[in-house]
Amino acid sequence: MGHWCRICRNIKPNEKFSGKGHKNHICRDCSRKPKEEIEEIEHKDEIFNYLKQSNISKKNISRLQNLVCSHNKQVAEMAEIVLEIALIKPHKKRRLKFLAKENRELLSKLEKTGLIMAHRWENSNVCTILAAY
Ligand SMILES: [Zn+2]
Repeated sequence: MGHWCRICRNIKPNEKFSGKGHKNHICRDCSRKPKEEIEEIEHKDEIFNYLKQSNISKKNISRLQNLVCSHNKQVAEMAEIVLEIALIKPHKKRRLKFLAKENRELLSKLEKTGLIMAHRWENSNVCTILAAY
């Protein structure tokens, strides 16, 4: 039986994890990576998960406001998009339809960054949603 590494997204044998790494789901190889590289993956996952939640809370919003100031350009950009969404449509339900109607620019940003995948169970096909309006 192996163990899941959340950084390289691989299942690796247990001996590839230290005690602490096992708990944190980071394998030995990944734990040697530069801190910035690990943080980038963690922050992107975090931002992505906010979109997957049924609601983006006020606490999440203040966290996103911090991430917008990240030195990592990609993280900052993703945080900015999700923050914008959180402020106008914090609830996941019917979010894509709402954006298709009210803010197509934001919807296309979601698509370009791949963040749209957080909504794949709802409706992964943006063209279908756009065509409906
Ligand atoms: Zn790893």
